[in-house]
Amino acid sequence: KGMVDFDAIRAEFPILDQSVYGHPLVYLDSAATAQKPQCVIDAEADFYRHDNAAVHRGAHELAARSTVAFERARASMARLVGACADEGGEEIVVTGGATAGLNLLATAFGNASLGRGGSAAARFALHPGDEIVVSKAEHHSVLLPFQELAARTGATLKWLDLDEEGRIRSDMADEVITERTRVVAVTHVANVTGAITNLAPIVRRAHAVGALVVLDACQSVPHLKVDVHALDVDFAVWSAHKMYGPTGVGFLYGRRELLEALPPANFGGSMVELAWMDRPAQYMAPPAKFEAGTQPVAQVVAAGAAAEWMMAIGMDAIATHEHEVAAELLKLGDVDGVSILGPCENRDRIGTVAFDVDGVHPHDVGQFIDAQGIAIRVGHHCAQPVHRHFGVYASNRASSGVYNSVADAQALVEAVSKVRAFFRV
Ligand code: PMP
Repeated sequence: KGMVDFDAIRAEFPILDQSVYGHPLVYLDSAATAQKPQCVIDAEADFYRHDNAAVHRGAHELAARSTVAFERARASMARLVGACADEGGEEIVVTGGATAGLNLLATAFGNASLGRGGSAAARFALHPGDEIVVSKAEHHSVLLPFQELAARTGATLKWLDLDEEGRIRSDMADEVITERTRVVAVTHVANVTGAITNLAPIVRRAHAVGALVVLDACQSVPHLKVDVHALDVDFAVWSAHKMYGPTGVGFLYGRRELLEALPPANFGGSMVELAWMDRPAQYMAPPAKFEAGTQPVAQVVAAGAAAEWMMAIGMDAIATHEHEVAAELLKLGDVDGVSILGPCENRDRIGTVAFDVDGVHPHDVGQFIDAQGIAIRVGHHCAQPVHRHFGVYASNRASSGVYNSVADAQALVEAVSKVRAFFRV
């Protein structure tokens, strides 16, 4: 089916060629972190073997090559998400990961609230009585930085509720987002339910009242064609390690004129044009303004290789393939005593399926499944409010990647169907 050979793609992942407890490994935990294809592993190792140097400073050959590779990777990442990659118009900031990117934004908004960045930064400032809107489906990495920002500025934190399936209530946007709302931070795809957010009503309302939209794209960039300009969001964050790239690095998209006006959040080397003892420093233009310190160059280069690799397969082909795997994973809902936390129908969702096994603790489920060589995640997945919404403390979660097959999903469904008998429930 189609032109892409997904068996060949799976074979590009050396880690998947192993047995766990005598069973061929079935890795269904890509929402936590994805495995890496050989080309990404090679990109990082080759960088250290041939080019390694600090970027944007050295006058020597290795520094020049490293700088080219680093900036090329930034441009690849921009292309993957539809951002601007033209020199001088870059809209992609290198961060330590999605969590670091969200904290960067919350800190920068906080700095603007203190008057830093002057009048250009006033649009980011929050004052007592202003509102920040999130959703109840957010990962703690969205909820907590913005909750903290609200506490620091006297702003009020509000949220979009979830419907019975756990979808974000976009129909509440007009009611929850008001003239006092300055920032709306929502997820593109929820990491527990796998639901794709209906963003348009949220973005439309936010912009109508002059609020900024921050998108958590952690769980969409690896699985769907994301176009930040078409989505019309102001900022977006994601992590490289969930999109087949290395750990320790992520990216922040910001509309160019917003990055120009936003005050920095971190200070140090590589981000300053002029520094004096007795006068305030003059910062560089974005993206450098937000990248204080020595950049994670090898990791960015490898993340760029991951972006190129995904684009070569094609995001539409990846989405179609994972949609088939999702259909099989959703058969978990037909197993006696198993209920899905999230949409049960295979539309507007990805292959991330959280489920509860009646009468069996997720840690017991996880251990039983692990003994069959199948890796899933158990716990609250850093999203406690969404679990509370479903009336549970924790759950089991299977999540697909480009290397999973329908057979992987079938193996999981079969293993889960034996859990309750094993634990004599
Ligand atoms: N948001 C979502 C939806 C996530 O799934 C994750 C990772 N679990 C994060 C944010 C945080 O990403 P990281 O831990 O890579 O910073």
